[in-house]
Amino acid sequence: MSETDGADLLPALVTELPGPNARRIVELDREVCSPSYTRPYPFVARRGQGAMVEDVDGNRFLDFTAGIAVVATGHCHPRVVEAIQRQAAELLHMSGTDFYLEGLARLAQKLAAIAPGEGDKKVYFGNSGTEAIEGAMKLARYHTGRDKFIAFLGAFHGRTMGALSLTASKTVQRKRFGPLIPGVYHIPYAYCYRCAYGLQPETCAVECATVIERELFRTLVPASEVAAIVVEPIQGEGGYVVPPPKFLQELRRIATAHGIALVFDEVQSGMGRTGKMWACQHAGVSPDILAVAKGIASGMPLGATIASAEFMDWGPGAHASTFGGNPVSVAAALTTIELLEQGLADNAAQLGAAMMDRLRDWPLRYSVVGDVRGQGLMIGIELVTDPVSKQKAPEYRDRVVQEAFRRGLLVLGCGENVLRLMPPLVLEKPQADFALDVLEDVISRL
Ligand code: PLP
Repeated sequence: MSETDGADLLPALVTELPGPNARRIVELDREVCSPSYTRPYPFVARRGQGAMVEDVDGNRFLDFTAGIAVVATGHCHPRVVEAIQRQAAELLHMSGTDFYLEGLARLAQKLAAIAPGEGDKKVYFGNSGTEAIEGAMKLARYHTGRDKFIAFLGAFHGRTMGALSLTASKTVQRKRFGPLIPGVYHIPYAYCYRCAYGLQPETCAVECATVIERELFRTLVPASEVAAIVVEPIQGEGGYVVPPPKFLQELRRIATAHGIALVFDEVQSGMGRTGKMWACQHAGVSPDILAVAKGIASGMPLGATIASAEFMDWGPGAHASTFGGNPVSVAAALTTIELLEQGLADNAAQLGAAMMDRLRDWPLRYSVVGDVRGQGLMIGIELVTDPVSKQKAPEYRDRVVQEAFRRGLLVLGCGENVLRLMPPLVLEKPQADFALDVLEDVISRL
């Protein structure tokens, strides 16, 4: 698949969906793969280039999922592929936990330099988002000597037992897995587009944050026992919720005032997705610990937990992972960051703004659109039953996802009733226009 002419930038369907090869593989998958996977439609990927992915029957789709916000530089960016191939021919693995690796140190140096906040930083490497969060939880406990956590309703931080204890997005993710770790307190996220208290956004944001001091610290848990407040600067799986900057600023104030670590989970919102390297930079706030994964290595498994050098004070043996920071993922990450700095993050800012310009009045023009929100190429469209009651309409959202698939556009949902748009950051304007044309047409017919 090449993108040498403009036609290759857009979908082309050559069989019915699913095609014969896809049908066979879906059938095999049903027999042998874990039923816990959620597949909204029968898309079976074979290869990808840029923002396009082709299925096993030769149908070409526009990918507005980026493999769940992972392929930041697009599918198979030639420079990323070259870096991976070069590294794979030289050294696949030696384990950064027991031996030194030049790439590992160079990537840590780079991440430390671009991570938000002043001063020297250190980096721990794992393989995934959930591991980056486990690292953050353990480091927060280790450094503070405290054991409790504050997290938010709607949060998604991963599915291993520690991270799952913070996750509060859908009950299906927790059902029958308890008991999870004790001492995790969940409070409302700043749902300012539909305030739980009926307040204006800025006031609402302060209300949501200060409930920690006004209520939690008085009634449930002393501040002196809280190791960390863990928060997504933009809620992802919970519904692409963008809080007002004041929310993160207040959390920063509260954490500092009480000696609590502030952990930003930028697993989904980081690596240029919002038009800046980190979503928290839009609010001008830095965390004590930053969790990163997904887009960091353009599709290779890698996670990072980044903290100030002073904060990362654990000693040898305290935490490690055999595969974390393997040379091939590291090579992909170093090239990914170069590409983000050479213009992809700016492209996300510009194309995201152009898309928002077009989307802004959809809640006025379409009775089923309750809200449109986002930053850069992380955009959520909320589907509701009607403009007055604004009741959540998951069935409309699901219909849009299905119909978009039938027209060659891959999108996913999040939250109960939100359509999430998270294309690769190499997206081009005609592709953004195509996706919005499809969505507008489908939505206008609901
Ligand atoms: N944190 C956030 C904000 C996420 O969106 C996700 C995954 O969707 C995770 C953590 C978990 O990442 P992983 O699936 O790589 O473990």
